[in-house]
Amino acid sequence: MRLFKNGTIASEETPELQKADILVDDEGVIHQIAETIEAVDGSTTVDCDGCVIVPGMFDLNVHAREPGFEHKETLSSCGEAAIHGGVTGLVLMPDTAPPVDSGNLVKSLQDLVSEVSRIPMHTSGCLTKKREGKELAGFSGMASRGVTMLTDADHEVPCPDLLRRCMEYAKDFDLLVTTHGDTPALTKAGAINEGHVSYKLGLPGIPAISQEIALDRDIRVAQHTGARLHLQQVSTANSLKSIAAAKEAGTQVTCEVSPYHLLLTEEDADDYNTHFKMDPPLRLQSDCEALIRGLLDGAIDAIASNHAPHTEFEKSADFASAPFGISGLETTVLALFDRFISEGTFGWNLLVKKYSAEPRRIVNLDPVKIAEGEKAEFFIFDPNGETLVSKDYLKTKSPVSPFLGQTLKGAIRETVI
Ligand SMILES: [Zn+2]
Repeated sequence: MRLFKNGTIASEETPELQKADILVDDEGVIHQIAETIEAVDGSTTVDCDGCVIVPGMFDLNVHAREPGFEHKETLSSCGEAAIHGGVTGLVLMPDTAPPVDSGNLVKSLQDLVSEVSRIPMHTSGCLTKKREGKELAGFSGMASRGVTMLTDADHEVPCPDLLRRCMEYAKDFDLLVTTHGDTPALTKAGAINEGHVSYKLGLPGIPAISQEIALDRDIRVAQHTGARLHLQQVSTANSLKSIAAAKEAGTQVTCEVSPYHLLLTEEDADDYNTHFKMDPPLRLQSDCEALIRGLLDGAIDAIASNHAPHTEFEKSADFASAPFGISGLETTVLALFDRFISEGTFGWNLLVKKYSAEPRRIVNLDPVKIAEGEKAEFFIFDPNGETLVSKDYLKTKSPVSPFLGQTLKGAIRETVI
């Protein structure tokens, strides 16, 4: 038995934290929660004085890179990074080599996950074979293996008629379709937001309309087919307006935002630092402000890190040719605490709602609860601590993060799973 003493429990329902002791039995089930619990014979006491006990987070957008790109990340290192960051469940993107586009490949990946991961990693499957946007992937096989969503990850399905058929089939199988709004004809070889920073640095730009047009199209097709649609990595104020209007019209659409698009702007990438190169690119301060409002007013359903590791060597290329993507699993809770919760912009309840409860609901899982009889799945957060985000600190194989070298307020003491 482990007794977590003198902590305060966070929940999605209320900004108030509940002061309570938690007794977890040897099977990992929460045996008792009460204002005071005395240590029992054979129990170990964990002092949680001053700490917040937070339900385990769930990340809808994770690229674990295995199979195919194990030099960037493996399922094992990805799982350990997640646990280190307070994340106790996630959805794997299917953009591995080979891409996960059939029931057999889903099964192989699930077998691999069950061997190496200490947390649930849910598999997604491709919308189109090999993510090539030419023909439908094996929907029925993947559905029978229990994929949580269908997505071509950061590839847009180019033909609207093919996307329509994807959504029609997905609806028949009651599967969620997930897209990452991007219009290749507008994005071209862009590396950074199109605007005064791209002009100043002489880098090819990605205009905001690249996301907005694709997202509008995907919403229209979802409205037409009645399929459930989830939109990844919303990055502009106009994208959010479209989503809010679609929700108003009763469309079954949800969306996520990354911590970076809430916290950082194109100005942060001003010195060609590839740790700020991500897809979609960092936008403007006015976009950040709109996204924060959307998070508070409910237009944005979830936070997702888009954990997209690459080696330091790959990211050391010049800005235009370095790959898009950074590691996010270990810094999302810390960065959002540092910039928002500790500043009073929002409370723990909002973070629990948007990064733990809602993401699970989007893929039809039950939210994690800290309650008697439930499995213990939480992390202990010390708001008075601090964390130096260093290479030593990070457990991912890819120490590529815009927060690298920074000291963030708060510290994750332990994740209990
Ligand atoms: Zn992604």
